[in-house]
Amino acid sequence: MTHQLFIDGAYCDAASGQVFDVVDPSNRQVFAQVARGGAEDIDRAVTAARRAFDHGPWPRMSGAERAAVLRRMGDTIAARRDELARVEVQDNGKPLPEALWDIDDTAGVFHFYADLAERLDNAAVQDITLSVEGFTSKAVKEPVGVAGAIIPWNFPMLMASWKVAPALAAGCTVVLKPSELTPLTALELGRIAADAGLPAGALNIVTGFGPEAGQPLTEHPGVDKLAFTGSVPTGSRIMATAARDIKTVSLELGGKSPLVVFADTPIDEAVEWILFGIFWNQGEVCSATSRVLVEAPIYDALLARLTEEAQKIRIGHGLQDGVLLGPLVSPSQHEKVLAAIKRGKAEGRLVTGGGVPEGLEAGCYIQPTIFADMAEDSWIWREEIFGPVVCIKPFTSEADAIRMANDSRFGLAAAVMSADLDRAERVARAFRAGIVWINCSQPTFTEAPWGGYKQSGIGRELGEWGLNNYLETKQITTWDRHRPWGWYLKD
Ligand code: ADP
Repeated sequence: MTHQLFIDGAYCDAASGQVFDVVDPSNRQVFAQVARGGAEDIDRAVTAARRAFDHGPWPRMSGAERAAVLRRMGDTIAARRDELARVEVQDNGKPLPEALWDIDDTAGVFHFYADLAERLDNAAVQDITLSVEGFTSKAVKEPVGVAGAIIPWNFPMLMASWKVAPALAAGCTVVLKPSELTPLTALELGRIAADAGLPAGALNIVTGFGPEAGQPLTEHPGVDKLAFTGSVPTGSRIMATAARDIKTVSLELGGKSPLVVFADTPIDEAVEWILFGIFWNQGEVCSATSRVLVEAPIYDALLARLTEEAQKIRIGHGLQDGVLLGPLVSPSQHEKVLAAIKRGKAEGRLVTGGGVPEGLEAGCYIQPTIFADMAEDSWIWREEIFGPVVCIKPFTSEADAIRMANDSRFGLAAAVMSADLDRAERVARAFRAGIVWINCSQPTFTEAPWGGYKQSGIGRELGEWGLNNYLETKQITTWDRHRPWGWYLKD
């Protein structure tokens, strides 16, 4: 089956007529083809989005009217949850229960931003108290313009919603570039939007490769704002490109997120959250718990229990009952993670996993993998792997745990587990990270801000923070003509 681009309210082929293959990572077989968008398609999409923003109805509608469209989009996604989740399983590899969770969250994100769009009608104007008499002033929030959104492959439809829903809620128009590895569910958003009554041009979706479609989108002068989720090198390049014409950027990049476990934590509780933290979604999660620091008295017992449970995780096709670990997203990601494991073997002790599970060689599968005894300056401890690979280390004092946790160029997420909530709160405050979990790791909520410190990014998505990404603030100040002024014209 061949899927087309969605530009100016209609599906169409790429200008070049070219397509590319979409691969099922459970068997490495091509199961669909998608239009291979390029600079010309991006230009058509941005032109449509520009026209829809400058002259179309979308930014001029009330928040309540926009909310009605977003709500219908959320309703359709919810109604099609099973079908969309199955596409996600084939495209990304993730187990069906996780894909269903993603789709439910995606519908929830559209519903959430529908509510915020509605509230924007009243919240968009704020009176300002001035210290000088004779003037009144107010701040007005307005949509930033045309938003270019570039997203990764780990939560294909959900990541689209994190950008498209707040941008549309704000009154922006959008050009979305999904990942070339997982373009299918994001492309469906075009149909869903059109059926919900979104005006033509307000959402455009161009599938294609980073350098061919992503780069022209970041360079296009018709784009006002760029929102990106992906790797640090690509984020850095996008920021540099955006600097040429001062586009606003928000970036959600990588991580090497620590979990600090104090000895007063029940071992099974810690093991549950470590397993969830690193093996959920095959570890292909920017906030994944990839570094675990355990207080020395329980280190050996915890590692033994963690190893035992990791070995029990059922690996297999995402549609099989009881499977908790599917294949990685693609053959290239599979190779990358296997290469990282090879490097890890030279730097530390492979406790368990590290290979391709027997009988599953046809797919991009990797066993749950645990490394111990690596140095603090080792590559495996410091660099993001983006797969089911966790590194574990003991610590002896709170100060040492905080130092090791913060000793990273990343600062996306961190977690702490302790029965002493005062201590947990103290450590949570000491983490240099944008997302901190206490006594858990990974649960993500549409209402709460999401984003990183340091090289993990710029700006916050989700919640009201996500909406603010797509809003400009304008000052409108009025002089009371009955008051004296006369700086030049004295009488
Ligand atoms: P990964 O290496 O894990 O695929 P990337 O950061 O390269 O992560 O990819 C995330 C998204 O960024 C994808 O949609 C990809 O196509 C896009 N992308 C890659 N390179 C560029 C680029 N030079 N300019 C714009 N987008 C890009």
